Amino acid sequence: MELLKQRILEVGVIVSDQVLKLDAILNHQVDPTLIVEMGKEFARLFREAKPDKVLTVESSGIPIAFATALQLGVPMVFARRKKTVTMDQDTYSERVPSFTKGIVTDIMVSAHLLNKGERILLIDDFIANGDAARGLIRIIEKAEAELVGVGIAVEKMFQAGGRSLRERDIRVESLARIASLADGQIRFE
Ligand code: 5GP
Repeated sequence: MELLKQRILEVGVIVSDQVLKLDAILNHQVDPTLIVEMGKEFARLFREAKPDKVLTVESSGIPIAFATALQLGVPMVFARRKKTVTMDQDTYSERVPSFTKGIVTDIMVSAHLLNKGERILLIDDFIANGDAARGLIRIIEKAEAELVGVGIAVEKMFQAGGRSLRERDIRVESLARIASLADGQIRFE
């Protein structure tokens, strides 16, 4: 997606060879116009897969998943990272290493929000090693729902996450594919 690549070049901050900061558009401040365009693109890519729901994990996946769900006319569910007093006791929970926080966290979804046989489209902002996506996929499996595909805004091709999912015959679509962040430069594939 050319618009996203352009914006990444404009505002992306290279934190290290492994990490790109997109706080100006995705991860802290949100650019609504760009996010809506991303939602349209994911909807175009996955409409034929007929998702019943879009699933993401808080927090940065939420705007993109919301924009996608709006375009598809389906609900969006986000996995929580913290249990709240209002949350149901009956949850699907998975332990997931957090790439940016360097810790392990539990992600959880109330059981009644994911139903057996529902077609689920997974959306997230970045994929690095694929732990967040795999955790969400395990939750989908526990619910006996069906994963129809994974949409990722920014895929870092030099990390194994996307590849590991494709090797399992999971459809992964990414809007910007970064080949390298080495030498202080963002290189797209
Ligand atoms: P994974 O679980 O695939 O290793 O990492 C994915 C999660 O870590 C994403 O949900 C995203 O929030 C965060 N993440 C991974 N790489 C980056 C990065 O380069 N920049 C930012 N801002 N977040 C990242």
